[in-house]
Amino acid sequence: MKIGILGGGQLARMLALAGLPLGCEFAIFSPDRQSCAAPLGRQMRADYDDEVALSRLAAWSDVITFEFENIPAQALQFLTRHAVVRPGVEALRLAQDRLLEKQLFTQLGIPCAPFQPADSLADLHQAAQSVGLPAVLKTRRQGYDGRGQVVLHHIDEFAPAWQLLGGQPAILEGLVAFDRELSVFAVRAVTGETIFYSISENIHHDGILRLAVSRPDDPAQKQAEQHADRLLKHLDYVGVLALEFFQVGDQLLANEYAPRVHNSGHWTIEGAATSQFENHLRAITGLSLGSTALNGVAATINLIGSIPDNTEILRNYNAHLHLYGKTCKPGRKVGHITLCADSMQQLQLQLPGLLRLAGAGDVCVKVDSGHHKKSNTGGDA
Ligand code: AMP
Repeated sequence: MKIGILGGGQLARMLALAGLPLGCEFAIFSPDRQSCAAPLGRQMRADYDDEVALSRLAAWSDVITFEFENIPAQALQFLTRHAVVRPGVEALRLAQDRLLEKQLFTQLGIPCAPFQPADSLADLHQAAQSVGLPAVLKTRRQGYDGRGQVVLHHIDEFAPAWQLLGGQPAILEGLVAFDRELSVFAVRAVTGETIFYSISENIHHDGILRLAVSRPDDPAQKQAEQHADRLLKHLDYVGVLALEFFQVGDQLLANEYAPRVHNSGHWTIEGAATSQFENHLRAITGLSLGSTALNGVAATINLIGSIPDNTEILRNYNAHLHLYGKTCKPGRKVGHITLCADSMQQLQLQLPGLLRLAGAGDVCVKVDSGHHKKSNTGGDA
């Protein structure tokens, strides 16, 4: 099977690493000079609006997928006319726009924080009347890892925040005082068969994911699956989809979905029978899905901006290191560590040392008799 991937970052790289043993071949389509996935396949370097290059990709590929949301939807629309594209363009188009995404949640009865569009500063004042404060102002498009968003506590902050975000169309969302953040990953086959991984509990700092921990048998699992299932059916989705939530008491509020493999699911590489990457490939190529059963418990610790001494990390024989082959830059995800354990207690004993090595010693997860509460470093948007 020949698989074309739009985007050449670490997600493309891990897809290729999972697909090579299945006999898949990859084309990595990206405008970047240095794609970290490029060594694993045929590199196609071109802009996303280059229809000649897109046609070449379509001609080469049996199926085309994408590894990040900020691919122009037009590129996918073009490819759809010439090739099989999974997941489909609609899943991408809606996920690219926070307003359309939240409207979709509402339409499907998936609860989320109160929100209102804000196309101008005057709209922002209007929106705050109904959403209330504190709230988060987010650009509708192109935001990720906490970029393109500002927390607002007071009306005096509106004008500077509006300017800071470049006066772009935005949405105002209520700031959720969540107990914890979760994500669920689903994989849906061409046949409609859908399976789920155990949810992940996620801790962010400054809007960037620092730590993700598998939560087998969590009380929120069923609710998370029900919400994700509605989305998958509505989109007639094929592949892996991640849906992120805030949990407040027993209720889950959807924050956003990613129509792709997701950072909070990296622990599935060692922590599950079949990784999210392999299952995404199985789904989009029409193969049977692989078991999502867990191997004990696992956590992903992101390496942000710098890479610690690998001998120190690997001194822990339950730790696995994944480096993405990217140059270190502040705020950039350059790798991750997966820590595996037989029990949550064992995992928790070993986490602090690795978190310290990863420069995230201030992050911790508390485990108490099956109900888990986080204590983290803030970074509320
Ligand atoms: P996002 O880009 O929407 O995923 O936001 C990144 C992170 O910012 C989330 O994972 C949360 O930690 C925080 N955040 C975003 N929106 C809200 C919100 N409405 N209320 C509270 N925290 C938020």
